[in-house]
Amino acid sequence: MTVAAILNEKGREVTTKAAGDTLREICATLAEKKIGAIVITEASGTIEGIISERDVVRAIAQDGPEALDKPVGEFMTRKVVTCQAQESINSVMARMSGGRFRHVPIVRDGKLDGLVSIGDVVKYRIAQIEREAEDMRNYIAMT
Ligand code: AMP
Repeated sequence: MTVAAILNEKGREVTTKAAGDTLREICATLAEKKIGAIVITEASGTIEGIISERDVVRAIAQDGPEALDKPVGEFMTRKVVTCQAQESINSVMARMSGGRFRHVPIVRDGKLDGLVSIGDVVKYRIAQIEREAEDMRNYIAMT
């Protein structure tokens, strides 16, 4: 099963901000949208970095509350691991656990085309396991 199956269900909209936005604005958006990470893009739409709630915690632990008035570019991760919609869900899971992060932006022709979180993957796998169990129950009931 590919990542496209998850994107088709959840949609391809991704919350993005610019590297010059303050950490305070990032916190407000994370809270408002109830999400764990925001992709930082250039005006052209190219991915420049990613900032997650873990980075916010680290920034405040390091710089104190003044961190909130600094640009997110100072705290984001610049080397972003991405994947394509046609890749398998298993390979994205492996990338998340190998890299110890919970968000993977999806790219198409170099542009952002969705984002998959560990929560999306777990939700999809649970639904898949429930479907398989139901099929098995139906099969047993018929035989
Ligand atoms: P997370 O588990 O997604 O909250 O992120 C944990 C750490 O990994 C943070 O420092 C993030 O900036 C970073 N991170 C999150 N997603 C990615 C990704 N796709 N590629 C590289 N680093 C990431």
